[in-house]
Amino acid sequence: MEKEKLKETVNYFLKRDILLSKDFLDSLTEDFNIESLNEKISNNTKSNLFLVLTEDSVSIINKENNADINWMDFDKARVLFEKGENKNPYFKFIEFLRGEEIRDSSKFPINVVFSYKEESKKRNIQDFVAYFNARYKALEKILRNRPELQNLTSIGRLKNKRDKENISIIGMVQNKKTTSKGGLMLTLEDPTGLIKVYVNNNKPELFNPARDIVMDEVVGVVGVSGDKIVFANNILWPDIPLTKEFKKSPDEGYAVFLSDIHVGSDHFLPDEFNQFLEWINGNVGSDEQKEIAKNVKYLFIAGDLVDGLGIYPGQEDELIIKDIKEQYTESAKLLKKIPPHIQIIISPGNHDAMRIAEPQPELYKDFAEKIWDLPNVTLVSNPSIINIDASEDFPGFDILIYHGYSFDHFVANVDSIRNSGGYDRADLIMQFLLQRRHLAPTHTSTLYIPDVKQDHLVIEKIPDIFLTGHIHKCAIKNFRNITLVCGSCWQSKTPFQEKVGHNPEPARVPVLNLQTRDFKLLKFGK
Ligand code: ZN
Ligand code: FE
Repeated sequence: MEKEKLKETVNYFLKRDILLSKDFLDSLTEDFNIESLNEKISNNTKSNLFLVLTEDSVSIINKENNADINWMDFDKARVLFEKGENKNPYFKFIEFLRGEEIRDSSKFPINVVFSYKEESKKRNIQDFVAYFNARYKALEKILRNRPELQNLTSIGRLKNKRDKENISIIGMVQNKKTTSKGGLMLTLEDPTGLIKVYVNNNKPELFNPARDIVMDEVVGVVGVSGDKIVFANNILWPDIPLTKEFKKSPDEGYAVFLSDIHVGSDHFLPDEFNQFLEWINGNVGSDEQKEIAKNVKYLFIAGDLVDGLGIYPGQEDELIIKDIKEQYTESAKLLKKIPPHIQIIISPGNHDAMRIAEPQPELYKDFAEKIWDLPNVTLVSNPSIINIDASEDFPGFDILIYHGYSFDHFVANVDSIRNSGGYDRADLIMQFLLQRRHLAPTHTSTLYIPDVKQDHLVIEKIPDIFLTGHIHKCAIKNFRNITLVCGSCWQSKTPFQEKVGHNPEPARVPVLNLQTRDFKLLKFGK
């Protein structure tokens, strides 16, 4: 709105003892009608109360039939909210005024098990050495107790072994080549040295999985020692034990999994997303779908909330919101429409406004201030682990969230994934990573921060649910009692995706019944 008209508006309401908030003024457009709003205000407020108009209060006033609102209390709650002292009363107020049943969100417990906090420190080459040692140690610890690894020895000690002794080693893959006879020659490394490992191609049950071995992953090898070589008889991955319990919550409730909303992109799908918001508010859908909406307790967003800026060459030309702060402000407007009793958990992706090196910390307050203001949002890092729905007699579900930036590398470099559908099979990629107990086993598969004490991309804790995104196509699968779920997206196919071979399937929402562990896949749009 023009400056003159803004001034006029402020003065008009000031004369009537009404103040205007900045967010309300910012939201005004040229077609705003002073008289009609004033009329609605007089209809909505019985007495002449001192009032501050905010975006929220105006949206309530515009709804009519709110004649008995205590605007003084509303203002008090708003002041507390703005001071950041207590956000809850204000949101309870909004919830109430919107005509929603007030629910006790403490009944929807979330506990952040792991979220990376950024330490600012310059990294040097020594850090990478220490980082790889930390990774090796963590994965070696998982492998060490496997009964198959008999006569486990360090690589440095192999030179003292006579030929044809049965031995086992645990090493990081330093090299992998196909030999002229069609077998595989690996070079494995541990802190004591390097050794070549030969995998013959005459045993398919040994050779086929070995073909999927990628650089820098840690494997165990059972074999026979030779001169500066080990002949492999068995290869073991850190993997997921078959004994993982399939937990079910004693309480009714649902979790909704989203990712890759891409607000700000000219390919963002507002109609589909609004339809989703209508559903989660219980306004559309079959009776069964409405019943589910009523019982949603948790909503996850696994990265790429916004489209960001400068993500790839030419991406700026595909933006309708070219300011990063505004992209988050617009996202916050959408998320505000989600019933406030629902706990929203957001982790970042490669399009969000921060470094892409992993772990990525929670969304920066500088850019995503409006998201930080939402009282029902928990911001976490990428990756992170969240526990939900715990109660006195239930340990809750552990949810590992990872956006999926490393997926591109493994789709391109792992034959078994590429030949089974590549980007269409997020479930296979996720399974591949779980078996390796690492979210980006190959050094070049993602950018990362080399933490010298711990490799945060190692999957040390086995989750109940593994949530990812990034490839814009939903997948759901059960793997050894772990629920694998990849979110869809809210963006139609971009020219960049066309080029890299993504097949997005937007506007799908996987919904998990926490009591039965059954999934429903909701589809929005035409
Ligand atoms: Zn995305
Ligand atoms: Fe992404």
